[in-house]
This record gives sequence, structure tokens and C-alpha cells, in this order.
Amino acid sequence: MSVPTDFDDLADPSLLTRFLARAQERFGERLAIASSLGAEDVVLVHAVAGLVREGAPPIRIFTLDTGRLPQETYELHEQLEARYGLRIESVFPNTVAVEDLVRRQGPNGFYHALEARHACCAVRKLEPLERALRGVDAWITGLRRTQSVTRTETGLVEHDGARVKLNPLAAWTDDDVWSVIQRERIPYNALHDVGYPSIGCAPCTRAVEPGAHARSGRWWWEDPEHKECGLHVARLRQLEAARRQEERPLSENG
Ligand code: SF4
Repeated sequence: MSVPTDFDDLADPSLLTRFLARAQERFGERLAIASSLGAEDVVLVHAVAGLVREGAPPIRIFTLDTGRLPQETYELHEQLEARYGLRIESVFPNTVAVEDLVRRQGPNGFYHALEARHACCAVRKLEPLERALRGVDAWITGLRRTQSVTRTETGLVEHDGARVKLNPLAAWTDDDVWSVIQRERIPYNALHDVGYPSIGCAPCTRAVEPGAHARSGRWWWEDPEHKECGLHVARLRQLEAARRQEERPLSENG
């Protein structure tokens, strides 16, 4: 599938609803939003609700429930559904794969080696994402260029294998995101108020000092260029690496 260029005029924050409407016109029901329930994602949910109020059908929204999320994220999930009347679909990891992972590397093996961390993200996030995207031609994310050193090249529209990835907030700043949240009184994760600018799984996220980079509280024990779970960077390659690790004898995996 070629990368559509008819979104290039919709990068401005004021045009988010039009961006989503155009995505819906173009991809119909084969469109989905992958939501991590972060600050950007609640802005997307709010925008979808606005479209629905104007008579459009809802865009499918799903979130990956890794089984290791903070309680505050579940509370936000409920708040968003109650406020907007939209369903946010939870996609879970494969039970057998999680059991095998924990048997191999223990419940917190991700702290001990980058390979083990990638294996955990592959089982708890990457495989469920692939499953959630079956039948989807285009998926929407809340990625922004200023979120991390790994995201500075984020395009408004990107190739993602056979699919298209739409990043309508690519050019948004932190201020753009938070001014919308505050102006529209959009529910957001309570952890943002206690020093968590970016929120993922509980054991892999911590609060940061004021002024620290937003992603510095994610996988804080790793180098900045490794701070991705693979959902957006080399996902398919990482899945393959995790599969190879699964195939190795237990003695090699430690
Ligand atoms: S962020 Fe941490 S707990 Fe969550 S899937 Fe990745 S390694 Fe596992």
C-alpha cells in the first residue's frame, strides 16, 4: 500500500478532527486507534467522541493490557468510557506465552538484560498488537516527534509493513497536548500529576524530576536509544528475535 499524501495539510493541532474524519473516509472500518491511554491518547479519544457527536460512526479504539499496568491506568480507562460513551477494547497477551516467558526469565526478568526486556515486550505488547491489527489497513497512534530521541523522525503518515500508520499528533508540542486536555477537561492519568510524564507498565515506569525528559522515566536503566518497546520501531524484527529466544534451550536463556 502506498503512503497517502492527502493528510499533509492536516498537521496543525486545530485540524485533528478533520484528520480523523479524512482517515475514516479513506479507510472506513479497516481503521483503528492503538491507545496507550497516555496524554496524547486521551486527546484522540476526545476527538473521536467529537466526530461521533457530529454523526460519524465511532473509530475502533483498542489498548494493550500487558497485565502489568498501573492501577491509575485502569481507572482512566473507566473514566474515558464513562465520559464519552465509547468502548476501549482491551487486548491481552497470550496466556501460554506469558506463562512460558515467566518460567524462562522470572516475573521481573526484564530488569536483568535488554534481550529479556525485549522478550517481555514482545509477548505482552508486540504479539497482541499484531493480533489487534488483523484486518486493519491503517492504524492511528499518538506518537509525537518531541517525545524521545527515537521519535524525532515521526511522519504524519508512514508505511508499516502492509499497513499505513497515521500519527496525527506528530507535530504537536507538549503545550499543544496539555492545553487541549485542560481546556476540554479531558480525563487523564492521575500519575501525570505526580511526576510521570510518560506512562507504560508499572515496573518499567517511574516518576522523573521536574524538567527531565519525558521518556527518562521509562526503562530508566537502559540507554536512551533503547527506550522503545518495539511497538513503533522495528516491531517485526523484534518479534522474530523473541521467537528465536523462545526456541533456545532453557540453559541458554538463564
Ligand atoms: S514495559 Fe516492561 S513489563 Fe511491560 S511488556 Fe515491556 S518489559 Fe514487560
